[in-house]
Amino acid sequence: MKASEIAALRAALLDWYDVNARSLPWRTEPGEATRTDPYRVWMSEVMLQQTTTVHAAPYFHAFTERWPTVSDLAAAEDADVMAAWAGLGYYARARNLLACARMVAQDYDGVFPDTEEALLKLKGVGAYTAAAVAAIAFGRPANVVDGNVERVMSRLFAVKQEVPAARPELKRLAGMFVSDHRPSDWPQALMDLGARVCRPKSPLCEQCPLSFGCVAFKEGEPQTYPRKAKKTERPHRLGHAFALRDGKGRVALVKRPDNGLLGGMLGLIGSDWSTAPAYAPPFEGDWFEAGTINHVFTHFSLDLTAHVATGTSDDPAVIWMDEAEALASLPTVFRKALERALAA
Ligand code: SF4
Repeated sequence: MKASEIAALRAALLDWYDVNARSLPWRTEPGEATRTDPYRVWMSEVMLQQTTTVHAAPYFHAFTERWPTVSDLAAAEDADVMAAWAGLGYYARARNLLACARMVAQDYDGVFPDTEEALLKLKGVGAYTAAAVAAIAFGRPANVVDGNVERVMSRLFAVKQEVPAARPELKRLAGMFVSDHRPSDWPQALMDLGARVCRPKSPLCEQCPLSFGCVAFKEGEPQTYPRKAKKTERPHRLGHAFALRDGKGRVALVKRPDNGLLGGMLGLIGSDWSTAPAYAPPFEGDWFEAGTINHVFTHFSLDLTAHVATGTSDDPAVIWMDEAEALASLPTVFRKALERALAA
């Protein structure tokens, strides 16, 4: 594509963005001189990985109200941050969020570094987040490529290669548009176009400011891009979760080991998750089966059977928590199991 065509597409999209930018809690308006707070940009980008803006927004509000600056977050208790993250999924990100905040507070006096290169050195900050914070918060020209941008590029250039193999090529294509003219608005404009117009299943090409230069649109089947390699089927696992209630409105929880799935989060006491988990209630009691819930993780799906009993435990590892508070603090898979247990 010629430089003049790139320039025409850039101008068309930025004009569209000036009128159609999404209003998001972590944003300033298009072209606004005040830079967006890097703490808010960084947090939103971490939360938005694998999560929609609608789902992330209440968490973003809750986090920034409770911990308004990166130094406030750095000083927070691990357990409070993990509990506040419950429901957002991908819990390793919450641990990295805290580790990164502490790094910024201790090593950078609470001020985020302002280059992609320096941002990349922060705990849990990958190429995407570093580019997004550098561009959006600091106005640095950076190639910010998320799923929306990949989709737009695959269609604009009708890339026939399948993802994930095509990712380097999609990134190269996106890189052709990086410029020091409105570097903060450009990636946000592309993301908004991907979310609102160049939608995954039903792109609204007739409303698209880029249709004049879009090869997939001209071919007639833009929705078939990006081409995707066939997915292998997710393995299936089984597990048991034990909701021990004390009869006074509290339920027994444990803190999961720091490493591994849902590491450091609160959970119900339970078995391993495998093809044949052992049924081994942790305490003597009158256990009965409350039902089975399904939960899909990235690498496997889980049928978790909830069992419930009333009793006590003197195990020091047990954390007794008010049932309503437990429902608000547990990661989704355990919340669903506890809901099933309490409804039985
Ligand atoms: Fe996407 Fe259609 Fe716009 Fe092409 S014309 S970028 S396929 S919305």
